[in-house]
Amino acid sequence: MRVLQVASECFPLVKTGGLADVVGALPAALAPEGVAVTTMLPGYPAVMQALGEATAVHPLPGFFGGQARLLRCHAAQLDLVVLDAPHLYARPGNPYLAPGGREWEDNGTRFAALAAAGAMVARGVMGQGFDAVHAHDWQAGLTGAYLRFGPQPGVPVVFTIHNLAFQGQFPSWLFPLLGLPTDAFAMAGLEYHGGVGLLKAGLWFADRITTVSPSYATEIRTAEGGMGLDGLLRGRGGDVSGILNGIDTEEWDPATDAHLAARFSADDVGPRGQNKAALQRRFGLEERADAPLFGFVGRLAWQKGVDLILESLPWLLGSGAQLVVLGTGDAALEERCQGAAAANAGRIGTVIGFDEGLARLIYGGADSVLVPSRFEPCGLAQLCALRYGAPPLVARVGGLADTVIDANEAAVASGSGTGVQFAPVQVEMLGAAIQRMVALYRQPALWARLQGNAMRADVSWQRSAGRYAALFRELARA
Ligand code: ADP
Repeated sequence: MRVLQVASECFPLVKTGGLADVVGALPAALAPEGVAVTTMLPGYPAVMQALGEATAVHPLPGFFGGQARLLRCHAAQLDLVVLDAPHLYARPGNPYLAPGGREWEDNGTRFAALAAAGAMVARGVMGQGFDAVHAHDWQAGLTGAYLRFGPQPGVPVVFTIHNLAFQGQFPSWLFPLLGLPTDAFAMAGLEYHGGVGLLKAGLWFADRITTVSPSYATEIRTAEGGMGLDGLLRGRGGDVSGILNGIDTEEWDPATDAHLAARFSADDVGPRGQNKAALQRRFGLEERADAPLFGFVGRLAWQKGVDLILESLPWLLGSGAQLVVLGTGDAALEERCQGAAAANAGRIGTVIGFDEGLARLIYGGADSVLVPSRFEPCGLAQLCALRYGAPPLVARVGGLADTVIDANEAAVASGSGTGVQFAPVQVEMLGAAIQRMVALYRQPALWARLQGNAMRADVSWQRSAGRYAALFRELARA
């Protein structure tokens, strides 16, 4: 069967976070299940530059205020349809933010256009139509609405929530620009708190809703974790489910990763020490093999508990550990991370920036990766850390709870622990968990088992690809 996925990011063409990894990995993961995935993306400069020759072109004159075209092509082993609309996407840098860090004023129309074009392609405007649509996050949220209000029969839609915190909420002036019938602007439709809710519309018009872990699927249906949408989600009953993310285990393989100083595997973990030394040099830390080295890679945001890491430094430094931080985001947190490094030269290092290679060196060189998120739909950092032999220390929330097995005594005795979990998400608990991880690290035989378990944990897409395929088949049959 044929599925069109509609998304605003796709690794390796354009990435700001985990969404891109998932969108980039799904086509290869679903192929063995008999699902052929085509990916629909906005024609950002980075995407346009990567495209091969188009095999089909469909002009869209006067599309959302400018001249646009749909291009069918291949790049990075992906089957793509790209919406080439220079008036919307020919802007350098981050896909969502203008220089200076503010959202582009016209993000509402930029991503409505993506969804409108996605609906047209799903129905077959470029030839054969599709059996189902897979729409990702608020940027693709209107795809279901354009299918519902367009010519019938439509195409069934699976909508996946990668993060409920990003809701794509716009003022009501957006609605007349969308070209949808007036009655779509209703509580039973796009309207959300008097404005237009793109994520809300995605949830409303989807045939099935998935999110990226079973625990997060439960959390978002509670008042505490539902961010205002829990009522709608509860109302969808059995249409909501959680399917865990995986990572592309060929793309993420410490045995072949060219970004590492030394390559290694679960059966030959020895060379890993060279990565730790390289990491210590890169961040200006004391080059000590015996000091437990914690790493953090991610957005510097409240969600990720970066402030908690900074507050837990007395525990971390008190147990003789070191810390490296790689991330961008909140300016105040960037400054605090740099301040912590300046105040603890040789023990803490910070790099502000987005650096795929350095991220991989952290996964493959740190002894443990910290993921103290306040909420986490799935989280990929801990999956990369498992795969690269850095037993993760995680908050027991969302996908972190579902993918890391706490190395408590029973788990160690049965040989199943892969990391350390803590709850509730408070600094004292994080501090205690850091001490627990360091205690494990200082018992070499135990540590070797923990590291081996982590590296052998199944973080691949295999099981989850089967679940997505079953969902698409069920909808296509119906
Ligand atoms: P998010 O909520 O940001 O999507 P995830 O853990 O799901 O968080 O995915 C984040 C992805 O982006 C991971 O692959 C991580 O390695 C990568 N990443 C995050 N920040 C950086 C950075 N500063 N440099 C390199 N890679 C990063």
